[in-house]
Amino acid sequence: MNWDGRGRPRTRGPSLDDLPRIDSVEWQKEGNFSRQTFGFDYSMQGEKTFSLTCRQMGEGRLSISVEWEDEAGGCTRSVMIEREARPLGGVQPWFLCPDCGARARHLYVFTNAITCRVCTGLPYESERCSGLGWVSLRLRKARNRLEWLPGDLPIRRKWQRKKAFERDLLDYYMLDEMYVHEGVAKFMRSI
Ligand SMILES: [Zn+2]
Repeated sequence: MNWDGRGRPRTRGPSLDDLPRIDSVEWQKEGNFSRQTFGFDYSMQGEKTFSLTCRQMGEGRLSISVEWEDEAGGCTRSVMIEREARPLGGVQPWFLCPDCGARARHLYVFTNAITCRVCTGLPYESERCSGLGWVSLRLRKARNRLEWLPGDLPIRRKWQRKKAFERDLLDYYMLDEMYVHEGVAKFMRSI
């Protein structure tokens, strides 16, 4: 990604294409779904960005772990794989998004999330430069800097300083408020 998340993105902000992602159809072709364990290093612009390891949990469930190179971050998600028989033969595999449960061909990889396109909160192409799209992207990033307990409770990561955590938390709540505000503004413009 060529944008560090600070300031407003230029004329063309980051899109989903800039994010690392995994592809269920590719994985099927490579035979990954029938391996007990597998893993690989993911590189962006020739540099190792993170490593990914997977393990079969049985009953179509896969444990996917991501470990980032440059941050003390990473996560493990349990992802269901659904296989849909094609009318003309063959099987279409789907990931079920660990956040919303929707079928997805691609899952996107963040520091502490592996999630579907909708759950990334990234704006569509047409929304890229609008206020709402920008806030939504910043909000998603701010959310990903935090660690979350079930029930949507943010907690400080083991390695994070208290000050940094408080700053991240404040950042998140501020953006959350802006998001609601922009959303209302957009809605008002549309009626
Ligand atoms: Zn989702």
